[in-house]
Amino acid sequence: MLTDSDALTDSHVHLDLEEFAADLPAVLARSRAVGVGRWIVPAIASRHWDRLVALHAAQPGVFYALGLHPWFLAEESPQALETLACRLAARPEGLVAIGECGLDGAIALPLAEQLPWFERHLQLACELKLPLIVHCRRCYNEVLALLARYRPPAGGVLHGFAGSRQQGEQLWALGFRLGVGGVISYERAQKTRRAVAQLPVQALLLETDGPSMPLAGAQGERNEPWRVSEVLTILAQLRQQPVEVLMPLLEANVEALFFRDRSARNGSIA
Ligand SMILES: [Zn+2]
Repeated sequence: MLTDSDALTDSHVHLDLEEFAADLPAVLARSRAVGVGRWIVPAIASRHWDRLVALHAAQPGVFYALGLHPWFLAEESPQALETLACRLAARPEGLVAIGECGLDGAIALPLAEQLPWFERHLQLACELKLPLIVHCRRCYNEVLALLARYRPPAGGVLHGFAGSRQQGEQLWALGFRLGVGGVISYERAQKTRRAVAQLPVQALLLETDGPSMPLAGAQGERNEPWRVSEVLTILAQLRQQPVEVLMPLLEANVEALFFRDRSARNGSIA
């Protein structure tokens, strides 16, 4: 069992969504109770950016990324990208990455129309040397080619990883980690279960993607950040490594990706 002092991070959880509005303090308390005491909240749309800044100010342990998720691009104006660039360049307190951004091959908006938005995020990651939180569904090859072309210097994470070992290795070779979440709780996800068992531990981050992506056995329920402790347990079983050994290694990956700058600048991440 994890304890409070062994703080673990949920590296991808949408605490700013309506689903958590009514009882966020209770959600965070349940999370802390199992040792998950830090949360990274990626943005989905420009109308949420102020909410993320406010969340960081109000809730110790909450950090955030700013970006434009492909699902909500239809509501954005090109002006949003200029605003994004300014807000990122100002490096506001609590900002740890750019995202969530990416490409989705399973939505109505054609990839060709998503592409310029994602490319602007890639350019900003290169200019500002911030890590990138990437959403990628049914367009793995396109995303891989773009990451290889731009090579964002601070790397990033392909969140909600559901790929193969080979895909994981390709991403890791480009400095991109894999966000490991509820997918690995499903027996049928054999390819991804094998991949996360075999990939170098340095390449892995834990996440829930709450309120989405429930674990096996909890379908239909709101996914909550405390479940990161369950993802850790499953990952430890798949890798045949003790939880106590795996946990500090995974947490070091979060530090290396999202908090390196911050610890260098402030001498602390607290
Ligand atoms: Zn997400």
